[in-house]
Amino acid sequence: MIAHTPLGYPVHAVFYGDFSEPPPQSNWSAGSASTSWKSYYGEQEHKQTILLIAGVHGAEPESGAGALNLIRMLETGKDYRGKADPELIELASRYRLIIVPCVNMDGRALSPDHLRNVDHHTFRIASQGAWLDGSQVGWRGSKAWFPLPLERVAYPGGYPNSEGYNIMHDCAPGDIRSAEARALLKLAARWRVDAVINGHSYEFAPSVINPSCIDTPANIERVCALAKKANAALCAAGLRETPGGEPKARNSINLNTLFALASGAAAITLECSVSYDRPKDPRRTYTFDELMEPVFVTLKTVMQDGLETPLADRSKF
Ligand SMILES: [Zn+2]
Repeated sequence: MIAHTPLGYPVHAVFYGDFSEPPPQSNWSAGSASTSWKSYYGEQEHKQTILLIAGVHGAEPESGAGALNLIRMLETGKDYRGKADPELIELASRYRLIIVPCVNMDGRALSPDHLRNVDHHTFRIASQGAWLDGSQVGWRGSKAWFPLPLERVAYPGGYPNSEGYNIMHDCAPGDIRSAEARALLKLAARWRVDAVINGHSYEFAPSVINPSCIDTPANIERVCALAKKANAALCAAGLRETPGGEPKARNSINLNTLFALASGAAAITLECSVSYDRPKDPRRTYTFDELMEPVFVTLKTVMQDGLETPLADRSKF
C-alpha cells in the first residue's frame, strides 16, 4: 500500500521482480547532473523498471480492468477471462514491473462499473460531474478549478478524488495536494522507474497520446517513438482504423511531467476507449474484452521496444 485516499481507501502497488537494492544516494535531478547518472541509478545491475498506473481518473475503468487482469495473469498464468499470453509473461519477466491498479479509489468508488455505449452527456456527467443546476462541469471546465468546488456541484464525477483534486494535474512543484500523486512520485523516484504507462480512457479509438513538451529532448524523442509503435500495434490489433499521425510534443503539463523529473522516466499516457454510443457516428464500439485490450497491447509494445533501446537513456546525461 502506497497511500490512503481522502476517503480512506488504500492505494495498492503490486511489485514483480527484484526490488532489493538500497535507495538512491541522490535524487534524479542532482544525480543526473553529477559525474555519473549512476549516482541516482545505482551501481547494482537491475532490470529496467516499468510503472503501470491505472484509474488516475476513477470514472475510467478500462485501464484498471486491464491492470487487474494483468496481475491475475502474472499470478496464475491466465487472466480473469481464462486467457493466457505466454509472450506477455515472458516479456514481463525481463523487467521490474510495478502495477498500481487503481490510483483514484475515491473516484472509482462512486463511479459506474463501466460506461460502455452510454451517450456523451452521461459520459461527461459520470466523468467530470454536474453543477447544482444539472449542467455539465465538462472536461475542460473541470480544469478551471483545483480543487473542484464541491459545494457547487450536484455530482462531482469520478474524475477527481473526494476532495475535488484531479490527480493527473496535481503536479505543481512544492504544492502537491493529494496523497495519491505524492505517493506515485515517491514510488517512481525510489525505484528508479524508467517508463510509466499512465492509463486513461476517452471517447475515441484507443491511442497513446502526444507527450508534454516539457521534458528532455531525449525523453521526448523516446516517448514519441514509443507512442508511434504503440499506436501502430493498436491498429494492427484491430483496435484503431489507422495508426494515427506522427507523434509530437504538445503544450501540456501533467503528472507525467513530474514522473520525468522524479526518476528520468519516459512517461506515456494511454487512452483506452469508453466506446460510447454515437448514433450518427461511424466510429465503432468495442466489446468489454476490447475495452481493456489496449493495456496489454501497449505494455507489450513498450516491453518489446525496451529490449532493443533503453526506455530512458540515462547515458545521455
Ligand atoms: Zn483520464
